[in-house]
Amino acid sequence: MAKAKARAKAAVKKGAKPSAKAKKMVYFFGGAKADGNAKMKELLGGKGANLAEMAKLGVPVPPGFTITTEVCTYYYQNKKSSPKGLKEQVAVALAKVETIMGKEFGDAANPLLVSVRSGARSSMPGMMETVLNVGLTSQTIPGLVAATGNARFVYDAYRRLIMMYSDVVMEKAAGIEPKEDEGIRRQLERIMDGTKHAKGYKLDTDLTADDLKGLCSQFKVKVREVLGKEFPDDAQAQMWGGINAVFASWQGKRAISYRRIEGIPDEWGTAVNVQSMVFGNMGTDSATGVAFSRNPATGENKFYGEWLVNAQGEDVVAGIRTPNPLNESTKGDQNRHLPSLETAMPKVYKELDAIQKRLEKHYRDMQDIEFTIEKGRLWMLQCRVGKRNGPAAVRMAVDMVKQKLITKEEAVMRVTPAQMDELLHPIIDPKAELAQKALGKGLPAGPGGATGQVVFTAAAAVEWKKQGKKVILVREETNPEDVEGMRAAEAVLTARGGMTSHAALVARGWGKCCIVGCGALHVDLGAKQFHLGGQSFKEGDWITLNGTKGNVYAGQLAMMAAGEENQVLMDFLKVCDAVRRLGVRTNAETTTDAAKARAFGAEGIGLFRTEHMFYGKGSDEPLFILRKMIMSKSEEERKRAVDELFPYVKRDIKGTMEIMDGLPVVVRLLDPPLHEFVPESLEKRQALAQSLGIGMEELSKRADGLHESNPMMGHRGVRLGITYPEVAAMQVRAVFESAAELIKEGKKPHPEIMIPVVCDVNEIKHQLAICKQIYKEVCTKFGIKGFKHMIGTMIEIPRAALLSGQIAEVAEFFSFGTNDLTQMTFGFSRDDIGAFVPDYISKKILAGDPFQSIDQIGVGELIKISIERGRKTNKALEIGICGEQGGEPASVDFCHRVGMDYVSCSPFRVPIARLAAAQAAVRNAKKR
Ligand code: ADP
Ligand code: MG
Ligand code: MG
Repeated sequence: MAKAKARAKAAVKKGAKPSAKAKKMVYFFGGAKADGNAKMKELLGGKGANLAEMAKLGVPVPPGFTITTEVCTYYYQNKKSSPKGLKEQVAVALAKVETIMGKEFGDAANPLLVSVRSGARSSMPGMMETVLNVGLTSQTIPGLVAATGNARFVYDAYRRLIMMYSDVVMEKAAGIEPKEDEGIRRQLERIMDGTKHAKGYKLDTDLTADDLKGLCSQFKVKVREVLGKEFPDDAQAQMWGGINAVFASWQGKRAISYRRIEGIPDEWGTAVNVQSMVFGNMGTDSATGVAFSRNPATGENKFYGEWLVNAQGEDVVAGIRTPNPLNESTKGDQNRHLPSLETAMPKVYKELDAIQKRLEKHYRDMQDIEFTIEKGRLWMLQCRVGKRNGPAAVRMAVDMVKQKLITKEEAVMRVTPAQMDELLHPIIDPKAELAQKALGKGLPAGPGGATGQVVFTAAAAVEWKKQGKKVILVREETNPEDVEGMRAAEAVLTARGGMTSHAALVARGWGKCCIVGCGALHVDLGAKQFHLGGQSFKEGDWITLNGTKGNVYAGQLAMMAAGEENQVLMDFLKVCDAVRRLGVRTNAETTTDAAKARAFGAEGIGLFRTEHMFYGKGSDEPLFILRKMIMSKSEEERKRAVDELFPYVKRDIKGTMEIMDGLPVVVRLLDPPLHEFVPESLEKRQALAQSLGIGMEELSKRADGLHESNPMMGHRGVRLGITYPEVAAMQVRAVFESAAELIKEGKKPHPEIMIPVVCDVNEIKHQLAICKQIYKEVCTKFGIKGFKHMIGTMIEIPRAALLSGQIAEVAEFFSFGTNDLTQMTFGFSRDDIGAFVPDYISKKILAGDPFQSIDQIGVGELIKISIERGRKTNKALEIGICGEQGGEPASVDFCHRVGMDYVSCSPFRVPIARLAAAQAAVRNAKKR
């Protein structure tokens, strides 16, 4: 090793004085020591930081060093050149590695080989480039053959180096864009397939040393022919070529498209890791694998993974051979016949199991690890927090709280609202599935169900999706070039690859339904056809996948919503409830919706719209009566219609209040402009005229009288209650009588009457008098002393927000109607924004659609003013939100910060709102 040290010294000298003072650009790790640690992800990238941390923990990590992300930034700011002093720092670190390994890089007698690996701050699976076996040259090959006594291994390593290097460094990093299927790597693969075919081999491992040696020569000729350059025969040139290619790959097409999807900033840059090679391809006592400390598709707390004997790392990930299961307890139907590492190499398995447990405990989260076994010796090559889908995220969070590995607050932050959304998404209707025979089976890589039309390329998936079609991307195997197509597809189906393959990893990250390794699937890309289960499918044919079981079906199977039967989800939501401060109610007006919401944990109803009974199913009768009411001319006519309508209104309100027994129910009085209900068809108008005992001409006259040029700002909401007090009275009576009847039935109703479209306190005063009068009458009628109820208002007009101090003196609660409040604050009609808001967003005039997420600086300011002024005059004022934004996580966070009491959202958003409310509590406690 004297030689190595001397060389490093010389390098330092040659690089002259600055290197001593130069900024640290290279961080060493190995031999239970490291310059960096897990916290330094920004500088060292995720991979480098975790390699350093593992080395420090004393986990066996092949020694190496990390070149910082700052060097990548420099590289792009300085015409793709390296900063001064880098060469020297690399030489020093490399010398340390050589000392530990007892080998020298480029040495003819006992050569060290290295891998050159990328490593961004947050993992970008398969997006960046890695080159293995760097340092094999005509100089070093004989030495390595002599040292290992294994020529087959050396030439296998060499052919891999040529394949990876020519692809990554000489083609991709050089910006060459070959035609589909004509890349250098594919061309070399075809040469290798040719040899295998000619010799009658099935597997790569059947190739002999001589075969491989011959292949290497052919490869080099091909590389020269296709790329017009020699494959470099110098170890240093290979290493630096690799380092620069990693930097270049940061601006590669697939890296850019992955960043766009994941929202990773372009400025971050990548680090480069240079690490001594360990070899999983040295024979049957060698292996390589990928594992997760828990199952990333289900969350089950079982060490889960895949491995291949006599292979190098990327073989498992690329899905070239079907990998073996790691242990006995996680075997499935697909791989029961394959040997597990647990039985094949029990000692190594035990060591690996102990390491994964230790890593999970240390990082306090599920770990995704890469390992290699060289001649029975275990090496760890990577660890990181593992990607998981929604169901797995929820299950892990619940389990880890139970195990006391993490706190409830941490658990809540471990599941994103989008991940929870996956659990609320459809599965195949079990009945439909039972009736159908599966065409074939693969590995259940991403659970849930999906149905769609078959496409065979990523480009077609994107195109068809644009046309509004649902597609399923069917591939032999996916590669990083397919990400945008995978994104566009409802689901992904592949013939090859394991649970840790590219397709599985990416689909899981997005919570997409995905089946991989469907061995019987035969894809004929040229003919745009696939065969499975004795049937053929063309582009555009429908298929259905069950990603939870791994089953593939022909045709379009019925889907159904999932959710409330899920015990783990319910347990997780309880954890959320323990953490959140905000209440969560629902917007519902049917008993079905109310029951669904209650099952999802709604703590009451934040908005029951009375007018709902006049739309849709079963609305014929009440609507007819309502129309009569609208068309009435005299108070007497109207009173008759109102009385007729009463039982319908009461029936609906009472039903919902009964389901919400013990919980508050906010009933909003009639809100929409009446002219919305005027019938259009002649037939309906005739029936109405007849029932009112008037002629058609008179009816038309009355209908025309109701016409408004701007109905949304016209005769609606409380304005109706002011002009027609009997209409308001009827609704109030329906609410109070429902409550009284329920009390008589032994229930605990808790009605809250909400007056809409208020702009002045006198409007409320006027309505309040009616409410009080009716309350008294109802109490007398039912012979009860009284019952809990509240009368409040919606704040949806800016003037009301500003005058909240006065309004709160009479109103007992506020509910922010952020749909109208947004309309009125922006002056945007919500029904007409389609014409311009998309342009506003694409031209960056607005950051987003204010009807989806509360405009916190504008509309939000009004809300803040309103709450502040309202609470000043009424300390007990109850405050909530019932606009559609109430279930949107960023808006929920806002509602928490401004001190609302509850949010209210549609039944299906209730679980998301519970999570978002809990996350808001954690996030904002941290800030304080
Ligand atoms: P990715 O970020 O795409 O996972 P990696 O840098 O982790 O890329 O490398 C790709 C594969 O090569 C992995 O399976 C990894 O374990 C393997 N590998 C990387 N470096 C080495 C090494 N020094 N020795 C053995 N295998 C390695
Ligand atoms: Mg990796
Ligand atoms: Mg409104």
